[in-house]
Amino acid sequence: MTTIEQDAVAALAEDFGGQLMQPDATGYHEARTIYNAMIDRRPALVVRPTGAADVIAAVNYARERQLPVAVRGGAHSVAGHSTCDDGVLLDLSLLKGVHVDAANGTARAAGGVQWGEYDRETQAFGLVTPGGRVTTTGVGGFTLGGGYGWISPKYGLTCDNLVSADVVTAEGQLVTASETQNEDLFWGLRGGGGNFGVVTSFEYRTHSLGPIILGGLLLFPLEQAEEAMAAYADIVADAPDELGTAAAMLTAPPEEFVPQELHGKPALGFLVSYAGDPAEGAKVVAPLKAVGPAVDLVGPMPYRALQAIIDPMAQPGFRNYWRGLHLTGLNEDVVETFLRFPTEGLSPLSFLILFQHGGAVARVPDDATAFSHREATFMAHPIGCWESPADDERHLAWVNEVTDAFEPFRTGGIYLNFTPDSGEDVVRAGFSSGKYERLAALKAEYDPDNMFRFNQNIAPMPVGAGA
Ligand SMILES: Cc1cc2nc3c(=O)[nH]c(=O)nc-3n(C[C@H](O)[C@H](O)[C@H](O)COP(=O)(O)OP(=O)(O)OC[C@H]3O[C@@H](n4cnc5c(N)ncnc54)[C@H](O)[C@@H]3O)c2cc1C
Repeated sequence: MTTIEQDAVAALAEDFGGQLMQPDATGYHEARTIYNAMIDRRPALVVRPTGAADVIAAVNYARERQLPVAVRGGAHSVAGHSTCDDGVLLDLSLLKGVHVDAANGTARAAGGVQWGEYDRETQAFGLVTPGGRVTTTGVGGFTLGGGYGWISPKYGLTCDNLVSADVVTAEGQLVTASETQNEDLFWGLRGGGGNFGVVTSFEYRTHSLGPIILGGLLLFPLEQAEEAMAAYADIVADAPDELGTAAAMLTAPPEEFVPQELHGKPALGFLVSYAGDPAEGAKVVAPLKAVGPAVDLVGPMPYRALQAIIDPMAQPGFRNYWRGLHLTGLNEDVVETFLRFPTEGLSPLSFLILFQHGGAVARVPDDATAFSHREATFMAHPIGCWESPADDERHLAWVNEVTDAFEPFRTGGIYLNFTPDSGEDVVRAGFSSGKYERLAALKAEYDPDNMFRFNQNIAPMPVGAGA
C-alpha cells in the first residue's frame, strides 16, 4: 500500500491547473472505474491535468517518489491498463480540445479527446481521420496501439495518419516525435502502446469525406446465414478500398426496426461503410442486399452516425473478455467456423465479429511502424460482454473456445488493443519478428525504470543487454 505524503501532494497542488484526488475525494470512484467492470483497482492518487505543464509536474512527482504511473485516456482498455492499484493515475479526461488546420489537411487532438469529439470537429470541415468505431473510445490508447476504423482499408490505421505527437517522457521532458524529430520514438509510438510516455497532443492527417456516406446495418435470420456469408465473401474478395465491413454473429436486439420474431434470437449481422461515392457503394453492396435481409438499414447516412452505430452495444459497466486474432483470409473453412458460433446462451451484448482489414493498412511496409501483422486481411474478434460475475465462466469459456476454433486460420499475430491477457509472450505476439527487441531498446532509452508499466508492457532492455 502506497503512503501518500500530504506535504508533497500539497506542494504539487500549489502550481497545478487541474485536479488531484485521493481515495476519500468526490469523483475518485468515477475516476478509478473503467469500461470493463471486471477491473476493480484503487490508485493512491488520481491526477487530472489540464495541459502539458500539469502532466510534467505529475510525472516528476511520481518519478521522485518511485511511484508507477497509469495513464487513462478513454478508459476502454479491456485489459484494464488505464487504472492501477496504489500508484498514480494520470486521468486525461480534462485534457481536451481539437484544432483543425483544414489548409494543411491536419487536425490536432489533446491526449484526452474521445473519437466522437474528434469526429464532430473534423466533420465540421468535411474531414475525417480513421478512428474508433465507438464514440467514447479515447484517441490515446487507440492510436498508440494501431487503431482500425471503418475507413481504414481506404486511409490506413489511425497510427498511419499520425503526423506528430507531443510526449512527456518519464524524465518529465516534453518532446515532439515525428518523421523528422525523435524518429525512433515516432516509430515506437505507432503501435508500441503507452510504453514511452504520456502523449499530450496527437497531430493527424485528415481526408475529405462526408458528411454523407453510404453505411449501415443488415440483419439476417440464421436460416439465411450461409447464403448471406457466400454473397459477402464474394464482395470482399475483390472489394475496392472504399469498402469497410464486418460480419457479426449476434443477438437481434428488441428494437422497433427489427421484426418481432427475431427479437432476442441469434442472428447474422453485417456492418457496412463506403468511403466514396454513395451510389458506387450501393452497387458494391447490392449482391448482399439481394439475399433479402430481415433488416436493411444500409443507405446514405451521416459519417458521424456510422461512427456511433455500435454505441448502443458498447456501454461501460459490463464485464468484458475479448480477443483480436489476425486471420490469413476469409475462405470456406473460416466461414464455416464463424457460423458454428451463434450467440445462443450468451448475454445479448456478446458477439463474434469478423473484421475486414487489408487495403491501405496492408500497403504500409512492416518496418515503417512498430505496428505489425498488417498482412492479415481479416480479424476474428470474439467479444464476451455480460453483467453478472456468476456468468464469468460461461463467457470466458466461449471466448477461449472461439479462439481455439480459429487456430488453423490464424497468422499467429494478435491485436494487442483487443487483448485482455498480459505477459511477455502475449506482447511479443503483437509484433512481427525483431520488433520487440527494438521496442525494448527504445523503452530503455525513454523509460528505463518502467514507470509507465500499465500497458501492453515492454520490459526495458538496452541494446546489447539481451541474450
Ligand atoms: C467499446 C470499444 C470499442 C472499440 N473499438 C475499437 C475499434 O473500432 N478499433 C480498434 O482498433 N480498437 C477498438 N477498441 C480497442 C481500443 O483501441 C483500445 O481499448 C484502446 O486502448 C482504447 O484507447 P483508450 O484511450 O480509450 O484506452 P485507455 O484504457 O484509456 O488506455 C489504454 C492504454 O493506452 C494508454 N494511453 C491512453 N492514452 C494515452 C496517452 N495519451 N498517452 C500515453 N498512453 C496513453 C494507457 O495508459 C493504457 O495503457 C475498442 C474498445 C472498446 C472498449
